[in-house]
Amino acid sequence: MVYNGGTIGMKRSQDGYAPETGYLQAQMEAIPAFRHSSLPQWEILEQQPLIDSSNMHPDRWWGIAQDIARHYDDYDGFVVLHGTDTLAYTASALPFMLQGLRKPVILTGSQIPLCEIRNDAQENLITSLLLAAHYPVPEVCLYFGGRLMRGCRSVKIDAMGFQAFASPNYPLLGQAGIEIEIFWERVKTAPLQPPALTIQALNKATVGALRLFPGISATVLENMLKPPLQGLVLEAYGVGNGPANDPVFLRVLRQACERGIVIVDCTQCIMGHVDLRGYATGRALSEAGVLSGGDMTTEAALAKLYYLLSAGLSPAEVRTQMLENLCGELTLSD
Ligand code: ASP
Repeated sequence: MVYNGGTIGMKRSQDGYAPETGYLQAQMEAIPAFRHSSLPQWEILEQQPLIDSSNMHPDRWWGIAQDIARHYDDYDGFVVLHGTDTLAYTASALPFMLQGLRKPVILTGSQIPLCEIRNDAQENLITSLLLAAHYPVPEVCLYFGGRLMRGCRSVKIDAMGFQAFASPNYPLLGQAGIEIEIFWERVKTAPLQPPALTIQALNKATVGALRLFPGISATVLENMLKPPLQGLVLEAYGVGNGPANDPVFLRVLRQACERGIVIVDCTQCIMGHVDLRGYATGRALSEAGVLSGGDMTTEAALAKLYYLLSAGLSPAEVRTQMLENLCGELTLSD
């Protein structure tokens, strides 16, 4: 288990819940269920410092990826323990980083810490451990509240409930009820190439996300698009539409695209996909140079921009690859 922090292992403090080194391990050792003979052997690799995931940064994605790569041959599978606030971002980033992955990497967390009598931490931990050890899903997944989903399709949808995550545009990879069921036909096939796990950093680019709202001014957009920004996820309305009646707004978009900034249009809607040919308000964005993000989540589109731009590709190459399905993050229409 690569332990990054989050509610799952937190302790009560005067300032509210906060993570503490060694605390989760001590609790797990004290709970008989975690030494049950049906559970696989586990070890915790604690990241330093443990964090509330609202403090997450791409440098820490790199730390998690490195821990997995360093210990890749030592374990049958990996569980990444993480706060729920940015869990979907990390679950979206790791598939781009872990190239040639053949073992399960299951991300999980909880809404209530293990230290509380009523919690969702114990179930999420135990099922994630079983999944990682006995269900050889060769991809980065998120397990939470009985549902196993593809990491780069996940979004946090509930700040309070135990089923806090959804995979709106890709069906579940599995579910844990009385039985643990994996829907193998939806799971990626293990890659033949490259023969070993390699990891790719995502922390060498400057990207952003901007959610459109009625009244957004061209100046706000222009400021956002200033250097050092290299890529932007534009969270647009419906099938990807925006304020096409504002010529300055469109000009700012076009000039940014001409300067080599890659702008990707994702929908603000939880489900469905972008279609920039549907309305004049979408077509205008496309004509300004904005790319369709298809059915990618904002989290996945951001991770993909980080990945492609960190690899040092030219804007033209980044634009081409943004439209390709690289690790299961995008449904390609025929
Ligand atoms: N603030 C916490 C975190 O993301 C919330 C959680 O884990 O549920 O680290």
